[in-house]
Amino acid sequence: MVHKKPGLPTKTCVLCHRPFAWRKKWERDWEAVKFCSDRCRAKSKKSGDSERHGFNAR
Ligand SMILES: [Zn+2]
Repeated sequence: MVHKKPGLPTKTCVLCHRPFAWRKKWERDWEAVKFCSDRCRAKSKKSGDSERHGFNAR
């Protein structure tokens, strides 16, 4: 008898380096997922600049 959970695949976020598990919303492009959350993805885009919340002047 093997005790095996269905277990979701996991990855490590390239930004915060935390492990995260597969989510339904990623089922289409799990291969391409690099970040644990939209937050991390957004951060990686704004390389360095101060964090403004959805305020795009110019
Ligand atoms: Zn992250």
